[in-house]
Amino acid sequence: APASSSNFIKAIVVDDLNTGKVKEIVTRFPPEPNGYLHIGHAKSICLNFELADEFGGRTHLRFDDTNPTKEDTEYVESIKEDVKWLGFEWEKLFFASDFFEEMYDRAVLLIKRGKAYIDDLSAEQIRETRGTLTQPGQDSPYRNRSVEENLDLFERMRKGEFKEGEKVLRAKIDMSSPNMNMRDPVLYRIAFAHHHNTGDKWCIYPMYDYAHPLEDAIEGVTHSICTLEFADHRPLYDWVIRECEMECQPQQYEFGRLNLTNTVMSKRFLRKLVEEKVVDGWDDPRMPTISALRRKGYTPEAIRDFIRETGVVKTNNAVADSRMLEHFIREDLKLKTLRTMAVINPLKVVITNYPEGQVEQLEAENNSENEAMGHRQIPFSREIYIEQDDFMEEPVKGYFRLFPGNEVRLKHAYFIKCEEVVKDADGNVIELRCTYDPETKSGTGFTGRKVKGTIHWVEATQARPAEFRLYEPLILDEKDDEEAGENDSFLNNINPNSLETLQGFVENNMKAAQAQEKFQFFRHGYFNVDPKDTTADKLVFNRVVSLKSSFDA
Ligand code: ATP
Ligand code: MG
Ligand code: MG
Repeated sequence: APASSSNFIKAIVVDDLNTGKVKEIVTRFPPEPNGYLHIGHAKSICLNFELADEFGGRTHLRFDDTNPTKEDTEYVESIKEDVKWLGFEWEKLFFASDFFEEMYDRAVLLIKRGKAYIDDLSAEQIRETRGTLTQPGQDSPYRNRSVEENLDLFERMRKGEFKEGEKVLRAKIDMSSPNMNMRDPVLYRIAFAHHHNTGDKWCIYPMYDYAHPLEDAIEGVTHSICTLEFADHRPLYDWVIRECEMECQPQQYEFGRLNLTNTVMSKRFLRKLVEEKVVDGWDDPRMPTISALRRKGYTPEAIRDFIRETGVVKTNNAVADSRMLEHFIREDLKLKTLRTMAVINPLKVVITNYPEGQVEQLEAENNSENEAMGHRQIPFSREIYIEQDDFMEEPVKGYFRLFPGNEVRLKHAYFIKCEEVVKDADGNVIELRCTYDPETKSGTGFTGRKVKGTIHWVEATQARPAEFRLYEPLILDEKDDEEAGENDSFLNNINPNSLETLQGFVENNMKAAQAQEKFQFFRHGYFNVDPKDTTADKLVFNRVVSLKSSFDA
């Protein structure tokens, strides 16, 4: 992998290696398996894996599965697939739940050292006695239980003798700390929930702030990279490592989350879109998930290039422009894809002076910017399809495509001239009757006269039926993106026209197109063969991106 550009975390790593503070860099990507990964996660993945790669270190994939009610093996599988697809290999795979026994033992150690106690206050009472930023909290009446009593109660919590919410284990730190996270945070709670990995073995589960540092330390992680909202948790992270007497002492570093315009970037909200059927599943191409981007036609290279471009920053309010992501997929596909013709909104054209029953093969270059991609044969006959909007019965000023009496070039073929317009009973144009000029065949160097318009087409008798899915942003108002982090207001900004489905045709030589194969359709943009809905009879194409955007200019 190409070296990532310099950033502040990398500078720390270089320093730690130089001073001998660490011998080897160990990072981890620690998703909670409670949803599909999104492009924000891709940033964390690239950062962790590329950092270790660059310095000959290693990266673990760790499922942070300490919250049984929301987690599922479906998510575990999708996360593995996505990380691999992005091009990364983890050195080891862990489940945080594999460490439950050790976490329990360390909690017992904390109790023995007088650093944790069993509290009988309810969640609400704990919240109420926590104080505020300007006021210290109050000690719980159970704070000074004896070590023996705490050990006994903790063991009985594990055995399932108490109901959910009846007791918790809390760290004994400082109820007047200016950092709210240090005011005796809860370390364990009771939950009679079935766990995807440990089944019904446990009815107490560790809280994130307790579990995460221990997971890092048990695995031997050296640099624990997370997003900025955890900066205030770092003192607690360090406290857990120290007070649990962990041998390995990982350091936490925080960077700014990736946000994108016109999208929501949190599993919670993405799940909502799925559950409310705003979209057709986590991999609906309008979603910002990795699986959706893949299905839409994005490549790992484009995503990684985009992530690299966004940099690693210490501020949280950077919102990357989604057009930048589009820029990178265009760049990646430009020279790789066949440039073929698709008619997404067909109008039949009969070429009246072309011999009936005759089909000729014309040669077409596969990619005008990449000679190495060679040429292909495309059929031409008396009947073709063109785009409906490549014809205007009454042309507006500056319209150079087809209209009655006008001549245009058919890409890779001949000049045709519109002689007659055929309409149905309602006056809709249903067919054009044109003539062609055999002298004007493409590639023969004809210079007799010029035409101003070139249009694309597909030969009608052999054309392959295809469905085209065109996407627009799912969320309309980009200004609401940040607020969406706090509430569900994005549900009011759903774009009702985020998907347009059209039935048309592609060249017959595309009949063998495979799922996930990508093409550039002349004038329409880049398309990907949909892996789910394509059938033997009908190809379904997702538009990855149109050809141009203002951002490219
Ligand atoms: P979400 O809010 O979407 O559920 P999360 O942080 O709760 O995200 P995790 O599964 O815990 O999801 O995330 C795994 C890793 O990915 C964490 O280290 C987290 O910091 C990182 N991550 C999540 N979202 C982003 C983002 N938008 N930009 C960068 N990193 C992210
Ligand atoms: Mg999380
Ligand atoms: Mg979350």
